[in-house]
Amino acid sequence: MKRFGIIGYPLSHTFSPLIHQAAFRHHGIDADYSIVELPKDRFRSAIAELRKEHWQGFNVTIPYKTEIIPFLNTLDPLAERIGAVNTINITQAGQWQGYNTDYLGFLDPLQNHFSQLKRCLLIGAGGAALAVGFALLEQTAVAELVIINRSLDRAKRLMNKLNAYKELDYTALQLDTSRPSLPLFDLIINTTSVGMGETKREMPLNPLLFADNRTIVYDLIYNPLETEFLATARKKGLQTINGIAMLIGQAAESFKIWTGYTFPEKLRIQLKDELSGKKGNHN
Ligand code: NAP
Repeated sequence: MKRFGIIGYPLSHTFSPLIHQAAFRHHGIDADYSIVELPKDRFRSAIAELRKEHWQGFNVTIPYKTEIIPFLNTLDPLAERIGAVNTINITQAGQWQGYNTDYLGFLDPLQNHFSQLKRCLLIGAGGAALAVGFALLEQTAVAELVIINRSLDRAKRLMNKLNAYKELDYTALQLDTSRPSLPLFDLIINTTSVGMGETKREMPLNPLLFADNRTIVYDLIYNPLETEFLATARKKGLQTINGIAMLIGQAAESFKIWTGYTFPEKLRIQLKDELSGKKGNHN
């Protein structure tokens, strides 16, 4: 039996086992997908242990998408450019290869909007924000990008990295209680974890402060399906996107890397309905 898993902390919110196990079943692949929850103080030693065991691949999530890189043997060019890894493929010779599939997953639900996304507000500067930043730069019409994060240092680091890759109008700001003076945006994206777990009733900032009626408000969080951030935008009639399409999109790309098989389209639609609460309840 092949063994796959997801590395992160905390992982109580994850839907990844459900998605991958359904795809393995569909293709008749004898494989298991488990949750590998690693607290920060055990991360290094646990990765060393995992490297000795018999695994074929991992997904990597909060908060380890950049921390995992020194433990890999090779990096795919996209993951190298982004500087964050959410998928590891392990070869028969035991080589750990890093990939980033968040990039494509993030773009999935925006496909019809690329040309209208000129001003973007990126909230957060962690592992997911790196993929989102590069996806915006490479695939959309973004000309002005504001990055706002709890730690200003990290926002500046992300800004400098993106600016070194492609020059445009950047601003880096600290997320605090004061209301920054900013323009209205075409796209506002929450890539922080504020809105899930213990912060379920919070939002990183009020999207309505920087939105007009054409603004798209996107939250990478998928559990809960509708965060405070998205609910606030929806109640004002704005278009909102939650993290479900990205979750399934990035999983489909990981699945292809591990197995060589395309993720079945019918299953993608079925999972989207199921995880969006149209069938069953996964909250
Ligand atoms: P990460 O690398 O740990 O980054 C976490 C980000 O959240 C950082 O910007 C951090 O700010 C910020 N943050 C954490 N707690 C905060 C708080 N109390 N107040 C303000 N800011 C806070 O994690 P990640 O891998 O980027 O993931 C971030 C989120 O995206 C998670 O909710 C994850 O589930 C979601 N995600 C979803 C998908 C999907 O497929 N839908 C894919 C990837 C990620 P500092 O820099 O100041 O610490």
